[in-house]
Amino acid sequence: MTNHFDAIIIGTGQAGPSLAGRLAGAGMKVAVIERKLFGGTCVNTGCIPTKTMVASAYAAHLARRAAEFGVNTGGSVSVDMKRVKARKDEISGKSRTGVESWLKGMENCTVYQGHARFESAGEISVGGDRLTAERFFINVGGRARVPDLPGLDQVEYLTNSSMMAVDFLPRHLIVVGGSYVGLEFGQMFRRFGSEVTILEMGPRLVPREDEDVSAAIQEILEGEGITVRVNSKCIALSKRGDEVIARAECKEGAPEVSGSHVLLAVGRRPNTEDLGLEKAGVAVDAHGYIEVDDQLRTSVPGVWALGDCNGKGAFTHTSYNDGEIASANLLDNDPRRVSDRITAYNLYVDPPLGRAGQTEAEVRKSGRKALVGKRPMTKVGRAVEKGESQGFMKVVVDAETKRILGAAILGVGGDEVIHSILDVMYAKAPYTVIQRAVHIHPTVSELVPTMLGELKPLE
Ligand SMILES: Cc1cc2nc3c(=O)[nH]c(=O)nc-3n(C[C@H](O)[C@H](O)[C@H](O)COP(=O)(O)OP(=O)(O)OC[C@H]3O[C@@H](n4cnc5c(N)ncnc54)[C@H](O)[C@@H]3O)c2cc1C
Repeated sequence: MTNHFDAIIIGTGQAGPSLAGRLAGAGMKVAVIERKLFGGTCVNTGCIPTKTMVASAYAAHLARRAAEFGVNTGGSVSVDMKRVKARKDEISGKSRTGVESWLKGMENCTVYQGHARFESAGEISVGGDRLTAERFFINVGGRARVPDLPGLDQVEYLTNSSMMAVDFLPRHLIVVGGSYVGLEFGQMFRRFGSEVTILEMGPRLVPREDEDVSAAIQEILEGEGITVRVNSKCIALSKRGDEVIARAECKEGAPEVSGSHVLLAVGRRPNTEDLGLEKAGVAVDAHGYIEVDDQLRTSVPGVWALGDCNGKGAFTHTSYNDGEIASANLLDNDPRRVSDRITAYNLYVDPPLGRAGQTEAEVRKSGRKALVGKRPMTKVGRAVEKGESQGFMKVVVDAETKRILGAAILGVGGDEVIHSILDVMYAKAPYTVIQRAVHIHPTVSELVPTMLGELKPLE
């Protein structure tokens, strides 16, 4: 049976549900299709569950340090992994059912559960149903990339999705990939009590960040007993009894690592290969990302692609913003664009890294005249008072326009403090606006104006 809609949204990630709300609220007849878990990656296998587990790991870490603060815990600290998972499941589950019941109860909105595929530019199939529409919004997200490592077929490996079912303590977790996902899992499992080795193919952790950021993060992780092996160029896996063996072949250290479990955290790939895009004529790039313009229109009129599947962002906030851009253009006569967006994200190791705009290395490469300010967290009173003085903050400013070009805040509260800088960047205001602002004492944020008052030319 064929049903016709004004708009069809494929996937209930971070763009789809709110967009459905806007379109249905404007009186359009909307269909939303979800093949698996409502809320997608962020809600079920990404941000929400991982940050819930990071919170458990932080509690364990602080409990172990309790004596430093004069607090007696009466013995050694142990972690109940079943309880950690149950707490995570409860928080993530509430979010999932919230999205599901919202969509199912939404006026003008019909929810289909099943895998959607384009049959032509104007028609999709879901199970036995055929749906046609004037407009299609693809919000199908992505999943963990499984690299073609030698020996992968011989071992059972974990990804961010299967990690969600772990309710036990791996004796030794080998994490393949020293970037955002790998570092968050690596640190949390170390704090839960696992031995952890992180294998990174590149010469340093989080290679997209500045070298000083990578080095400080490595020092923090190693300080907690995590083994970091960079330059792990030829990773190969095998099984020896119950153990997983990872050949690392690093310049330094043993040529192989023996662990109980291995987590693959080497990037993401878009869920676009089984969507019938070729039947609709929607163009994808060499990596399978759907090609879009600055307003998220694909190569086919009437078809938009939002969120991780368009390769323009890889975060919940960028996906949500994609939904805002689409609805603003369609409903509000407001020509919002992806290029209005300033790069910003956090890495939720502890202490967290808050990032906005360009890295120092990117500014150097651009060749423009710039100023840089840097302050160690040991010189931030609030961090010292909290006993969390690892890391530093750094800001780079255009010497001529006085606009802030980028910032990195690796330190306690960095995930929140970064927004004071980000908002001034959005306001296109000079850095002197924050430099002269009177921030509240004692906070980490109060040292941002101080740092901006001590800028030096970027050599
Ligand atoms: C471990 C981890 C931690 C993360 N932490 C953070 C963080 O702290 N902050 C942050 O901003 N981002 C984080 N991210 C990234 C974030 O989760 C994603 O960027 C975000 O979920 C946006 O995804 P999306 O909207 O593109 O789609 P997704 O959330 O991936 O959802 C896509 C949905 O589409 C459905 N679907 C796919 N194909 C079809 C089909 N053919 N038919 C019907 N339905 C389909 C899927 O089932 C899914 O529900 C993290 C990711 C991971 C893996």
